Amino acid sequence: MIIAIDGPAASGKGTLAKRLAARFGLHHLDTGLLYRAVARDVRQRGGVLEDASAASDAARALDPATLNDPGLRGPGAAEAASMVARIAEVRVALREFQRSFARQPPGAVLDGRDIGTVVCPDADIKIYVTATPQVRARRRYLEMQSRGEPATYEGVLADIGRRDERDAGRDASPMRPADDAFLLDTSNLDIEAAFDTAVGAILGKAGQRGPV
Ligand code: C5P
Repeated sequence: MIIAIDGPAASGKGTLAKRLAARFGLHHLDTGLLYRAVARDVRQRGGVLEDASAASDAARALDPATLNDPGLRGPGAAEAASMVARIAEVRVALREFQRSFARQPPGAVLDGRDIGTVVCPDADIKIYVTATPQVRARRRYLEMQSRGEPATYEGVLADIGRRDERDAGRDASPMRPADDAFLLDTSNLDIEAAFDTAVGAILGKAGQRGPV
């Protein structure tokens, strides 16, 4: 079984994907880490994020063993990731890794921006998780505060707006719901309610196809 979870920053898709993977006994890949790691490697090699050939070389050479680097979650990493994520060659270079991850038995949950539309268009179920920018900014701001990271709500809201615009506005695999995605708006849902709704959607879909 392949479950594709897409959606904008701080929509709750990462937490949801992890919990769904545990619930259904599947592998989980946070595909945002791949783009974060490419940006890290470009900089480590002394390059700039706008350089398409440096970024695609870094994407082709990416070592998946380095994805647990805590620096990938640090400040600025997401913004840098969204810069290299605009480059079509970077996306192509990362695609096969994501597809072979998804094909591992017994299946996988992948979360990102283009999983249902481009990486796994044949996924068994596609969920597009969203929430208003204000709700997402508030969640991210509280998370950062609890980790003791300096942040203001206004700053986080501006970052989210900029990243949404870049991710949805790019030519290469823009962020958007697949036509057959289940839309999950978490603006008024906590994680438990979002999880229950997603599980219901998955079991409902599996039920239509017969026993899994
Ligand atoms: O999901 P996360 O916030 O870690 O992603 C960081 C950035 O990586 C996103 O803003 C987006 O530009 C890019 N990304 C992408 N496609 C994916 C996952 C992430 O373009 N499948």
